[in-house]
Amino acid sequence: MASIYIETFGCQMNEADSQYIANRASASGYSMTGNAAEASVVVINTCTVREGAEKRAYGRMAHFKSLKAADPRVKLVVCGCLAEQDRDSMQGRAPYVDAVFGTRDLARLGDALAAWRDDYDDAAGDDAADELRRALDPLGGHGDCVGDAYAHVRAFVNVQRGCSYYCTYCIVPYVRGRFDNRPLADVLAECRLALARGARELTLVGQTVNAYREPATGADFADLLEAVAALEGLDRLTFLTSHPKDYTAKLAATMGSLPALNPRFHLPVQCGSDPLLRRMNRKYTVAQYREKIALFRQTCPDWALTTDLIVAFPGESETDFAATLALCEEMAFAQAFMFVYSPRRGTPAAHWEQIAPEVGNERLRRLADVVDRGVRAWHERKRGTVVRALVQGPSRKDQSKLAAKTVDNVTVVAPFESLTQTQLQTKPWIDVRVDDVFTWGVSGRVLGIAERYDAIREPVDRDVRATIDLIALR
Ligand code: SAM
Ligand code: SF4
Repeated sequence: MASIYIETFGCQMNEADSQYIANRASASGYSMTGNAAEASVVVINTCTVREGAEKRAYGRMAHFKSLKAADPRVKLVVCGCLAEQDRDSMQGRAPYVDAVFGTRDLARLGDALAAWRDDYDDAAGDDAADELRRALDPLGGHGDCVGDAYAHVRAFVNVQRGCSYYCTYCIVPYVRGRFDNRPLADVLAECRLALARGARELTLVGQTVNAYREPATGADFADLLEAVAALEGLDRLTFLTSHPKDYTAKLAATMGSLPALNPRFHLPVQCGSDPLLRRMNRKYTVAQYREKIALFRQTCPDWALTTDLIVAFPGESETDFAATLALCEEMAFAQAFMFVYSPRRGTPAAHWEQIAPEVGNERLRRLADVVDRGVRAWHERKRGTVVRALVQGPSRKDQSKLAAKTVDNVTVVAPFESLTQTQLQTKPWIDVRVDDVFTWGVSGRVLGIAERYDAIREPVDRDVRATIDLIALR
């Protein structure tokens, strides 16, 4: 049987693209697998936003080479931003890659999958190759895998491709092209399809999603949110990523008025220094960012505010960096993705004088100290409460535990109790009493499960022996 394994790196745009590939593959008769060693086609959906992502992608290609050595029928396919960037050189560097599809070639990738489909039926039953592949079983995934048992509960829907803002550090406009907004009807149709397939959470994605404007009618992102929120069967809705420049009073009012929206707003600030923001070409000042946050707090006072931050951007002085630290103290972000600046070929900032990596790493540590205090304080508010969270699957660190995300995007880890994967696939919301709080998230005990976010919880059966305090019985 033809099967496909898809490994995804990078941002939510890639998650959305991987879901598209998965849908095209299943329409052509492939089954999804979460184990690369079983797959007929292995797809690596790559990222190139920082050098680390690029190295990891080439590392994964080399890793999967052994699958092809064991079974030449296997096809290794690379797509995504790195594939776009290195489309002419990739197969020279990694000759075991069978095909490279750039960010605008997804439909062609879907067609290729359909065309390859028959090869696998003919080739079925090669015992020697199957044996060898079984020996490679430990080849698991390091990226997110579309084929896992809970992939259907979350759907990422692209509303816009590309970006026209050209921040001076960023490769995205070069590998994804300029803004290309999808018609509203197409977005709604894809959302309906995802809901029909059982999605409990829809994430509308775009690099600057709040700059959305429907080409034909001029409908803006607030209009789009209202239209999606009105869809029958919608459980939860969220969106990524917004740009401060495009945050309007209308959008703030809409966000405050839609109960289906997850109470989390991701608004990357990047740094807290005006001269640096100007050189980054971010199109706002620190004062303007503060004004946007004030607007947001008027309508969404209890929401989590999260952000992205870059340290050691070319020219960042100690004074610039101190301003970033001060802004983070002030904002107390509920979560922040922090990066050391990574020069990207072809972007303006890559040509400027660079800051030494040791300085960057040291600033990252100092920034994390400040940010983590705010993050922990956000998590501390949950101690002793019961939170409802959407299951992700077994925790990566401890497979005996279940990992989930609250609607404000906090990781929750708890023992499975008596819950089975089958139960969780149809009732993917878990209620957890929070007992412990960490910087990475919270942990506790599962009290029950629910089919939808607003459904009454069904208590979990507990193993009575496990809950009796044996010491107290002595
Ligand atoms: N479009 C979004 C925005 O404007 O904030 C984010 C896009 S980018 C894929 C995600 C994050 O990666 C950025 O917010 C930025 O913090 C970080 N990033 C992008 N280019 C980078 C670079 N060259 N070095 C380090 N971090 C980078
Ligand atoms: Fe990159 Fe800036 Fe566009 Fe975000 S807004 S994708 S950081 S160029």
